[in-house]
Amino acid sequence: MKKIYFDHNATTPVHEDVAEAMMPFLKDDWGNPSSIHWAGRGPRKGVEDAREKVAALLNCNTAEIIFTGSGTESDNHAIKGIAWANKSKGNHIITSKVEHPAVINTCKQLAKEGFETTYLGVDSNGLVDIDELKKAVTPKTILITVMYANNETGVVSPINEIGAFAKERGVTFHTDAVQAVGKVPIDLQKLNVDLLSLSGHKLYGPKGIAALFVKRGVRLVPLVTGGHQERNRRGGTENVPGIVGLGKAAEIALKDMEKETAHLTALRQRLERGMAEKVPHITINGHPEKRLPNTANISFEFVEGESLLLNLDMKGIAASSGSACTSGSLEPSHVLVAMGIPVELTHGSVRFSLGRANTADDVDYLLEVMPPIVEKMRSMSPLYAGAK
Ligand SMILES: *Cc1c(COP(=O)(O)O)cnc(C)c1O
Repeated sequence: MKKIYFDHNATTPVHEDVAEAMMPFLKDDWGNPSSIHWAGRGPRKGVEDAREKVAALLNCNTAEIIFTGSGTESDNHAIKGIAWANKSKGNHIITSKVEHPAVINTCKQLAKEGFETTYLGVDSNGLVDIDELKKAVTPKTILITVMYANNETGVVSPINEIGAFAKERGVTFHTDAVQAVGKVPIDLQKLNVDLLSLSGHKLYGPKGIAALFVKRGVRLVPLVTGGHQERNRRGGTENVPGIVGLGKAAEIALKDMEKETAHLTALRQRLERGMAEKVPHITINGHPEKRLPNTANISFEFVEGESLLLNLDMKGIAASSGSACTSGSLEPSHVLVAMGIPVELTHGSVRFSLGRANTADDVDYLLEVMPPIVEKMRSMSPLYAGAK
């Protein structure tokens, strides 16, 4: 059976060069990077070289990069770390309704400690409202956290504008850039961002390794306390092979970004245009331009998304509805609901997230198998009979 992977926003395959770069650190350079003897030197160099590569991808200083265990941990570290460090100043956090659960559930957890959160709405294109943000800030606001790019729709937030406003008001600004890093250019010398999360497995690196950018001068309480690793900011012996893999992935992302953007944009256009031609009653969700090059989120009217995904899986096509964290539940996507998409349509929504290895043939195969699947499912829907 054909196997086609259109779920790169859930995770990406490890790039061959990444796996190769990691191998020596599993086999030979297995020492503890904190050791002062010979066994620690290679691993220490591996970690510091990787830090330089991650810093180069973001155009920041190496001392501003902390390695963590996941994108989720980076988000927790940023949000809780800033909240705990500033609780004498205020208890108010501003975020959006379309964040990843790693952010939303962290804010909910902090509510139990007396922190209050404002959840900004989004428009029908999935963009946060800057005016609403401006009105939400109070003297008690200590943190604004808004995602760079949405994992379900690919919509890219006006990070520059939000950052400039946060700076003007003296409020710390964090962005969950897990979906953006490696897909769009990010220059932290120009962007007014104080903290930024990224994760290895979303950019062809290994799972269980991630990073948090913390701008020089920004103080936060550590999430994981222990030894002196990561300049006392994250205790625990470093995941050396993972860190080396993340570094290699960052290096490849920087080198190939332009080429990959062109490749993915063309494929996504082929997919969206082809789908609109071949399947009636569909809508493409999210801002038409302010979107990651690889993400297409499509609502199929009169169709149940989960059964559509199962039918696609039987044809070897891997796609998903919403985020991996919400699939398997019957709750409608909180992202699409926040965009004002009717609940019936949110249930018929599928995310196709493309990646490096996808080809025009992959897209054409999808466009070939999709119409009969949708037609068959619709033929069983009493609503569709009435609408045709
Ligand atoms: C995947 C993802 C995360 C979580 O990263 P993990 O490394 O899987 O913990 C956080 N935010 C966004 C936007 C994501 O897509």
